[in-house]
Amino acid sequence: MAVSTRYETIIGIEVHAQLRTESKMFCSCATAPPPGEKDEPNTRTCPVCMALPGTLPVINRKAVELVMLTGLALDCEIQTAAVRFERKNYFYPDLPKGYQISQYALPLCANGRLEVPVPAEETSVSIGITRAHLEEDTARLQHGGRGYSLLDFNRAGVPLMEIVTEPDVRSPAQARAYGETLRDILRYIGASDGDMETGSMRIEGNVSLRPIGTDAFGTKVEVKNLNSFRSLERAMEFEVARQADALERGERLVQETRGWHETEGRTMTQRAKEEANDYRYFPEPDLPPLRPSEEWVARLRASLPELPAARRARYVDGLSLSAYDAEVLTADLALADYFDAVVAAGIAPKSAANWVTGEFSRLLNQHAAEGLRSSAVGLRPAGLAELISGVEGGKVSAANAKTVLAEVFATGESPKAVVDRLGLQQVGDAESIGAEIEAVMAEFPSQVAEYRSGKPQLFGFLVGQVMKRTAGRADARLVNDELRRRLEE
Ligand SMILES: [Zn+2]
Repeated sequence: MAVSTRYETIIGIEVHAQLRTESKMFCSCATAPPPGEKDEPNTRTCPVCMALPGTLPVINRKAVELVMLTGLALDCEIQTAAVRFERKNYFYPDLPKGYQISQYALPLCANGRLEVPVPAEETSVSIGITRAHLEEDTARLQHGGRGYSLLDFNRAGVPLMEIVTEPDVRSPAQARAYGETLRDILRYIGASDGDMETGSMRIEGNVSLRPIGTDAFGTKVEVKNLNSFRSLERAMEFEVARQADALERGERLVQETRGWHETEGRTMTQRAKEEANDYRYFPEPDLPPLRPSEEWVARLRASLPELPAARRARYVDGLSLSAYDAEVLTADLALADYFDAVVAAGIAPKSAANWVTGEFSRLLNQHAAEGLRSSAVGLRPAGLAELISGVEGGKVSAANAKTVLAEVFATGESPKAVVDRLGLQQVGDAESIGAEIEAVMAEFPSQVAEYRSGKPQLFGFLVGQVMKRTAGRADARLVNDELRRRLEE
């Protein structure tokens, strides 16, 4: 299937993100098992999230705040008039109440915009945000294949945010870039883990094509079952090609929901869509309308952290880092904060970026792969700053500094303690280095003589001997200078 150049791609994206709250949306059940404990099915439930008769929901204030914070980060208007929760009615076994509490007519946040860098197209695009609203998650349905299915209600009632874009996305690469940019923001503001693999962030893409130069939208197909940003991009690519192909053959496309099959690399019909779903939305009578005060919104706006795009710009324009370094650092809030702290401790930005994105990140990833959390690393930014100053001041060699860093990660000791324990202080004074050089010259008189009679290649051999005598701790630059001076005396 070749992508036709006669059609314009129109994509709209819906994201569902689990909010990072301790408790569920309308009850006090925990959203996650205690640290270190296994997530056993149906251990975090209560009469409210199991929808037993006579129970009443209570709004989770933190969840409301996280949606408003997201709305502010996405430049949305925050609805300060009464926002009603509404019941979205449908019957499915994973929905204990027979309806989902959601927002419909008036979402908490609306009319936003997100500037999305699209590296693959060497441009950035502005994507309109239609709405961001609050709802609750469903239970998890497990099809056992033995003639029955199992239900786990731990997820039922977990706070969920839905973010819907305008049909502004014009290519699969833009769709992916939007998803990644949004995920970074959600992580920065602490609204969601934004983890596609575990399902705490779920994406659906609505794709249609229209002949270039026309305004009317074509038939829309909704694609689900996307487990990564790469899947999103691939599924959009497949769908654009499939639809173009069908249109070229004069076929009529059907409005439907299709699922992405990762291994087969294609979308398949899940269900044909009725003209419009009739969910019979109506106001939730058990909850009062939300009326976020202007003060509350203002306080949240003031608490908004520096967002990834602003931070990248600060690193490039303010600290003269490369776009690549800025990208790597800002992709991870903790890493960016760490970098800032190392710079604040007096290290030049370029140098700090080299260490933080280089050896430090490598060790961090290695330990993460071994199941160690980054927070378990005992190296404070000031400690890394001290080590970098040591290298720059000639107290520790660059090679030994890497050994020190690895030891710090392995043992949790401070860099200074490791340097002392392993005796890695660089021999940097001219006097002691001079003594070593004299000893080497006395030990290898014929090589010295040959060098002096015009064999410069012996210089490297003599440097090597000095480094050997000092067990690699000598300041290489000083050894070079001193040795040359003495040989040429
Ligand atoms: Zn509960």
